[in-house]
Amino acid sequence: MKSEVKSTCCYCGVGCGVIVEAESGRITGVRGDPDHPANRGRLCTKGATLHLTARPECRLLQPEVRSRRAMPGTVVTWDEALDTAADRFAGIIRAHGPDAVAFYISGQLLTEDYYVFNKLAKGLIGTNNVDTNSRLCMSSAVAGYKQTLGADAPPCSYADIAEAGIIFIAGANPAVAHPIVFRYIEDARAANPELKVIVADPRRSETAAIADLHLAIRPGSDIALFNGMLNVLINENLIDDQYIASHTEGFAALRDIVRNYPPAIAADLCGIATADLLRAARWFAGSGPALSLYCQGLNQSVHGTRNNVALIHLHLATGQIGKPGAGPFSLTGQPNAMGGREVGGMANLLSAHRDLASPADRAEMASFWGVPFVPVQPGKAAVDLFKALKSGEIKAVWIACTNPAQSMPDVGAVREALGAADYVVLQEAFADTDTADYADLLLPATGWGEKEGTVTNSERCISRVRAAVPPSGAARHDWDIAVDFARRLGRKLNHAAADRLFPYAAPAEIFAEHCASTRGRDLDITGLSHAVLERDGPQQWPYPEGATGGRVRLYEDGVFPTAGGRARFVPVEHQPTAEVPDAELPISLISGRMRDHWHGMSRTGTVPRLFNLEDEPLLAMHPCDMLHRGLADGDIASIRNGRGEIRVRVAERTGLAKGRAWLPMHWGSQFMNSAGANGLTSAAADPYSFQPELKHATVQVERLDLPYPLAVLRRCADTGEALALLADARRLLGEFPYATIGLYGRQSPLVVGRAATAEPLSAELIAALDARFGMADEEGAIVYADASRRVSKKAVARGGRLMAIRLAGEALAQVWLKQAMAEDELDAGLIRFALAPSARPPVSVTPRNIVCKCADVSDVQIADALARGDDLGGLQERLKCGTFCGSCVPDIRRLVAAHTDKQPAAA
Ligand code: SF4
Repeated sequence: MKSEVKSTCCYCGVGCGVIVEAESGRITGVRGDPDHPANRGRLCTKGATLHLTARPECRLLQPEVRSRRAMPGTVVTWDEALDTAADRFAGIIRAHGPDAVAFYISGQLLTEDYYVFNKLAKGLIGTNNVDTNSRLCMSSAVAGYKQTLGADAPPCSYADIAEAGIIFIAGANPAVAHPIVFRYIEDARAANPELKVIVADPRRSETAAIADLHLAIRPGSDIALFNGMLNVLINENLIDDQYIASHTEGFAALRDIVRNYPPAIAADLCGIATADLLRAARWFAGSGPALSLYCQGLNQSVHGTRNNVALIHLHLATGQIGKPGAGPFSLTGQPNAMGGREVGGMANLLSAHRDLASPADRAEMASFWGVPFVPVQPGKAAVDLFKALKSGEIKAVWIACTNPAQSMPDVGAVREALGAADYVVLQEAFADTDTADYADLLLPATGWGEKEGTVTNSERCISRVRAAVPPSGAARHDWDIAVDFARRLGRKLNHAAADRLFPYAAPAEIFAEHCASTRGRDLDITGLSHAVLERDGPQQWPYPEGATGGRVRLYEDGVFPTAGGRARFVPVEHQPTAEVPDAELPISLISGRMRDHWHGMSRTGTVPRLFNLEDEPLLAMHPCDMLHRGLADGDIASIRNGRGEIRVRVAERTGLAKGRAWLPMHWGSQFMNSAGANGLTSAAADPYSFQPELKHATVQVERLDLPYPLAVLRRCADTGEALALLADARRLLGEFPYATIGLYGRQSPLVVGRAATAEPLSAELIAALDARFGMADEEGAIVYADASRRVSKKAVARGGRLMAIRLAGEALAQVWLKQAMAEDELDAGLIRFALAPSARPPVSVTPRNIVCKCADVSDVQIADALARGDDLGGLQERLKCGTFCGSCVPDIRRLVAAHTDKQPAAA
């Protein structure tokens, strides 16, 4: 039976509404929810392919106990699993105290899950050791808002994008990381040609490409930029003296500091032209409502909090806050980092924006929960949590819905910590994350499409997440696992109130308790419930009892949630990055995101078409840096520093200044022969937010001489077959000094393995690869061998289609082969061409550019359809191009216009 359910996308903090289609217990489709205020029916590529990620092959389906880590474990019942976990936790707590255990959870959990974990740690066990991967993402934004505005409350809404006169994007790349927000920026530009867009980013990102002014600042020079702009605003009388006098405090002290940042000096610190800094400041103050959008580029820094603070100063000094189109708008990374912040689910936070350091707030929360106390000692934030695990101070960790063995900085040290821990529980939906190797106990959790609860997006909007299908296998909901464990642990610790503390039978009951905990707070949502959200749809907070709607914009009255009601200027000075390039480590490595992948790829890495933009991690470098190192486009390079080494191919990019390189953060050990970017990143952290400097590290880059390349590709019948082959290819290529494994294509997906080695490949390894990639059977195989050059190639065709190919010793054709195979462009007569030593495809293989990346439609397909008589509507109807996120519609229009111009005029 077919059904449709409204829910929310589980990727980024834009929080788009989706309609999930299901049939016979399987998710079959997804489309944007036209009624959801965050996206009004639009979805980006990730959201539009969510249904393709709901596959059983990659799921953890049964509880499993391991006697040896990284080895297959024993399937157990839930009773056995949770009793074992409760025994181990209770034993450690009795012997070493409550701070000897910790919970490391996730901004992808729902608010209800978060609430239960937080209460379990702080209320039942009596430790504040509950931290989350949101620490890596948004904690500097939290601290920045609190230091200046008094509360962790983003004051803006997406509606402000349309009202802005200038949009200042700093340390964010919404074109790929928040695509639907980027669509709103494009819409605003189309509606208002006067709108100015400034982007401050060390790299010419996809967002910077559309900016009126790109400030390619040095990594870590954000405070110098903002202080320099404020210097200009003050000296040119562009500040709002009345707003400063009426609604803020601390301006005089900051003004004294900012005197030291005249435009020339500030611009020099940033490595930009003085004229550009002056222009940025004047535009900020003189273009109408000023809206700032910012994210990890500010947050993931040793001075992330102060980066946020310095940007917020610009708004306070000009009165650009609390009015339409204006304000400092922090874009949330994860889908429910906001919900986690609201329930206080971090080591230094307390529920409903209460202050952990305040005795009154702790007493209030203890009374609300009905426990004797909430511990005073702040818990360990993420970096310190894993350090304590390594030193033995923390002995057991419960990890839920996150993958620290890939996502933490200096991940080699984190893996050592997990290896050293007495006991590791992993509660996960996916079976094969890098962290799974370190677990003693694996607990299968429900995933997107199976869960019920709520999430809060960047604009404080709370949406329902709804189940479209039943749980997979024996998976249970995250909140339910935590509640069951809490009750069992309470009994083992003789905590008589455990059952009373965790009485919930459904997530609506947990949400009701969370709402009650917010009464009288700045985020008061006592007027909300699951029933209200069912009836009225998503709502922004605050939404107190008796309200009829949420609040679009905060601080419209100029009153802030500080003791005196005034926003605060904080003295901030430029500071260097944790690591400064030197002769030994001369390259500034910047990590970042790609549009089609999400975090560690446990979900997006199961969808072949999401690899079509780039199917391997490429290090982007400036041509001069490459030349200096004897590197050509596509060469393999070693990137290293004192923490580790990774090996990837390099790609020439002119959008980077000399001395800077850029690497995507998505690839980990599941898709390459190293831990990925975080093998190199630094664990140095901000002193206020404890957020580490994941964005930047210094490295050396050197050409790696691996003269024996290997490329192996196989066409699979379906994604299930491809995923199984991917897992085996990972093992077969595991010992190569360089290897990447990925998917590609659409209908009949490809598995693509690339590797290189210093020695010729052994006959045994080639035989093993051929066997697993379906090339062992000589019948129908085409073989080429040149023993003198150690070159050995083999291709297998079936029915005139190239099914698999292995190129060993020389692999130039890999450059074009995957597209030709995916598009079925090599007929039987041309298959031999694939074995030739040529980087150029045969003439029958048409080079093409993908125009619509969501629907994977190329310029060649569009040209063919236009030749058949289609217009824009026909293209959208037949090819579906331009019907998802809409960003390619201008390009399609240009192709249609060019085709029309070429047609002979009507008689
Ligand atoms: Fe999901 Fe894309 Fe919307 Fe983010 S922008 S919530 S990834 S559909």
